[in-house]
Formats: sequence, structure tokens, C-alpha cells
Amino acid sequence: MPEYNKVTPELWKQIEAIVGTENVSSSPEDLEKHAVDESPLEPHPPQLVVRPGSTEEVSRVMRLANENMVPVTPQGSRTGLSGASHPIHGGIALSLEKMNRILEIDEDNLMATVEPGALISEIHEATEALGLYYPPDPGQDSGSIGGNISTNAGGMRAMKYGVTRDFVNGLEVVLADGEVIEVGGKNVKDSTGYSLIDLIIGSEGTLGVVTRATLRLIPKPKLTSLIYTPFTSTIDAAKAVKEIIHHKILPFGLEYMQQHTVQTMEKYLEKKLPDNSHPAYLIVAVEADTPEELERQLETAGEICLEMGAVDAYIADTASRQQLIWEARKGVFDAYIAMYTLDEADVCIPRNRIPEYVERAEAIGEKHGVLLVPVGHAGDGNLHYNILKLEETPMEEWPELMEAALSDLIDMSHEMGGTASGEHGLGYTKRRYLEREVGPRQVDLMKAIKTAFDPNGIINPSKVWP
Ligand SMILES: Cc1cc2nc3c(=O)[nH]c(=O)nc-3n(C[C@H](O)[C@H](O)[C@H](O)COP(=O)(O)OP(=O)(O)OC[C@H]3O[C@@H](n4cnc5c(N)ncnc54)[C@H](O)[C@@H]3O)c2cc1C
Repeated sequence: MPEYNKVTPELWKQIEAIVGTENVSSSPEDLEKHAVDESPLEPHPPQLVVRPGSTEEVSRVMRLANENMVPVTPQGSRTGLSGASHPIHGGIALSLEKMNRILEIDEDNLMATVEPGALISEIHEATEALGLYYPPDPGQDSGSIGGNISTNAGGMRAMKYGVTRDFVNGLEVVLADGEVIEVGGKNVKDSTGYSLIDLIIGSEGTLGVVTRATLRLIPKPKLTSLIYTPFTSTIDAAKAVKEIIHHKILPFGLEYMQQHTVQTMEKYLEKKLPDNSHPAYLIVAVEADTPEELERQLETAGEICLEMGAVDAYIADTASRQQLIWEARKGVFDAYIAMYTLDEADVCIPRNRIPEYVERAEAIGEKHGVLLVPVGHAGDGNLHYNILKLEETPMEEWPELMEAALSDLIDMSHEMGGTASGEHGLGYTKRRYLEREVGPRQVDLMKAIKTAFDPNGIINPSKVWP
């Protein structure tokens, strides 16, 4: 690990001269706020919070930080779940929150150009107002597009459309030494040289600072609906996921929940869902341009679920009914955070192994004395296992039990050909699992890439690998 320096009073003044005094803060409130994300990791306060307003400002701050060996942690909305935006070594928290404009929606090229601090909810709203669609829909609406790109976020519609990577066409990136590069752009195809854009997407802020993004858009489907299906067995619901995929219908969302989650959500939201009395549930969400096509997809999915052991298939045919079910699904992590001590596994496995994974995971919970509640984007094999502390477990025993359960869940994913992280990234809290998954040769290749981008190792150090 390189020797890092602190921000000296002189450097502090130089940074203020670049971004303005009002955009540099060391107030206790700001340091506390920028010391954490949504993971359970203990806080790591930066020395300074800096809020640049332009690419030029980011570039000048980076150049100074690099010359002075001061670590810089890029931050979006800090909704990440693996400690990736924690300023582990102090230094500068570079918050992109002020660079939040939607610069252009180019209807001729079907592309949107946005600044990194634009929120995913704002991008959805602006594009959908024009009948266009940016499909990636990570569960946290207040996440920034810069954070989504840097974690290669997935979310509720990945089964049909893919993840953030599949919709990022161009990036402007400030490198560690302050140089600004553009990778990709508005061309639909590009086979020129190595794909640097694909390296930067998902690099968790370790290769450069994203200062502008060009996103692909598609026409927005006209109609949407979903069914909410209770099952009498947790394994039957998991088997139905496999069966829906096998029947070649492609819902945009196929989410799995168990009774524990449904009842927790009802308490948290103080609202009733259509049913809460069965061990497991699927949400099957479809889109189409005609009522006939919508109906066909709903009927096929409903029939498969019923054949696979569902006791009913509630159709949420109005916007408000759909909204209630999405509110319950999207709020799961917030509800568990509010009500339990927990961490969350983010494994992703080949989809035909889901029933086996769900069945075997129960024994892992029992072995380590934790409650494992899977909630997930089952349609793309990405199961979030909420690892919950039992009330009777003493707090001092919890970190070890949690880590042991997480480790077993990840090992089982590897055994089935899966991965440690489907969409949240390894960040700080899961970085020890990289080598276990990809082996030392690939870790060395990644380290060589990091050194090529950031020879002094100042951007977001201690992330992705130990
Ligand atoms: C309730 C809840 C539900 C969630 N659901 C989902 C889900 O369904 N799918 C999913 O994928 N994630 C989900 N997440 C996780 C989180 O929202 C995503 O990881 C999101 O992409 C983080 O965006 P952010 O702006 O908060 O980034 P941050 O947490 O601030 O940062 C994340 C990483 O990106 C880097 N970064 C941020 N901005 C930049 C930039 N401009 N340039 C370079 N690096 C940058 C940071 O250094 C860090 O490494 C959920 C989180 C919560 C709390």
C-alpha cells in the first residue's frame, strides 16, 4: 500500500480556489455523512468533502491530489451496499452530487447524455416523458447514474434488458493525473481497440472519475402489468422460476420473496399486500405494446405458476396495485435495515440451479445460527440473501457468524458456477472473495490495469481486492 499524505492547509486553499470555498467542507456533519454508505461497515470519515461543479474542476482537483499523494474517493449518493464509497484512507471524498444535470435527450440517436450525479429516478422520469425508456432499474431510486455505472448496477428489469453496462454507450472520465478521456460516444457499434468503457463500468471508482455518460434509450413499451403468486412451498416457487424461463416467455421482472419478507413489508409500510399467508411468492412483471400480447404473457406465466404449485395468481391490473407491489419489493432492504441487524449477500448463479440453491441455503442459516431470508431478482439468478441476526445472539458474536454464513453462501455460489456479486460490487466488505472466485492470475491482470490507469494508487484505494 502506498504512503498517503494528508491534505495540508496549503493544498486545502488550492482546492478552495478551484471549486469555491462553499464547495469544500470539513464540518462534522459533512464528514459523518460522507463516511458511510448503506452497508453495515463502520464509518470512515474523509478529511475533506469536495463538491466539484464541472469536469474542469474535477480534473484540477485530481491533478493536485495525485501530485500530493492524497487519496480520493468518488462518491455518488452513497447508497452502495459494499462499502465501495467509504473513504478508507481518509483524504478527499469527491462528491459528484452537484454535477447532476440531464444535458441532452437525443431523440434522433436514441441517447441521453447526463452528468454523474443525476439520479436514476430523474433519468427515468425525463426519458419516459418523451416515450423513451432507460430500462436499468436498480432498486434504490436515489442512486446516482455515476454510482450505477461504477457498480454496473442491475435491478428489477435485468432479466429482459440486461444491466447498466448494456445501456452505457459513452463516458467522459477524469483519470488520476487529471487528464480527461472520452471512451465510446453515440455510435451504436464500435470495434476499435480494447473496450476501455467496459473496464471502467463496474470498476467501483478505482480507475477514474466518471464526469459524463451517454446512455442508450429504447422506445417505452405501452402497457405493463404483473401477477403476484403465493406458493405453498419455498422450493416450488423457486422451481417455477426455472419453468417460466424454460417456457421462453420473457417477463421484464421475476422476483422471489418469502413469507418473512411479505410480513415484514406489511409492518414496515403499514399496508396490506394481496396475500401474506403462504411460504413464498413470485412477482412476474410483463410489458407489451398491445393488450392482447400483455394478456398472453400474463396468462402463460399464471398457468405455469399454477401448474408449479401456486395457489392463486393475483393480477395487479391497475397502476396503483402495481405500485403497491413494487413499493413492497423495492423497500425490502430499507425495511430490514430499520428492523434488524443484517448484511446482505448478492450471489448470482445460473438460473437452473435456483431451486437447489434455495434448498441448500436453509442448512447454512441453521449451521451458523442466523436467519437467512432470500429476496431476489430470481429471473436473472441474482438472489439477495438477507443475513439477519437472531434476537438472542449477543452483538459481539454477530460479525463472525454473519461472515461465516456469507462465506458459505458465496462458496456454494462458486460451486454452482455462480459469482460473489451479481450487482452490488465487492467494494470493501466483500473484497476478500475476489481471488477465491477468479484466481491469482486474473487478480494480477486487474492489478496491472489499475496501475496503468492510476500509477500512484490514489483513486479509491483498498477496494475490489485486499
Ligand atoms: C434499498 C436499496 C436497494 C438497492 N437495490 C439495488 C438493486 O436492485 N440493484 C443494484 O444494482 N443495486 C441496488 N442497491 C445498491 C445501490 O443503490 C447501487 O449500488 C447504486 O449503483 C449505488 O449508486 P450511488 O450513487 O449511491 O453510488 P455510491 O454508493 O456513492 O458509490 C458506489 C461506487 O461507485 C463509485 N462512484 C460513484 N460515483 C462515481 C463517479 N462519478 N465516478 C467514479 N466512481 C463513482 C464509488 O466510488 C463507489 O465505488 C440498492 C441499495 C439500497 C440501499
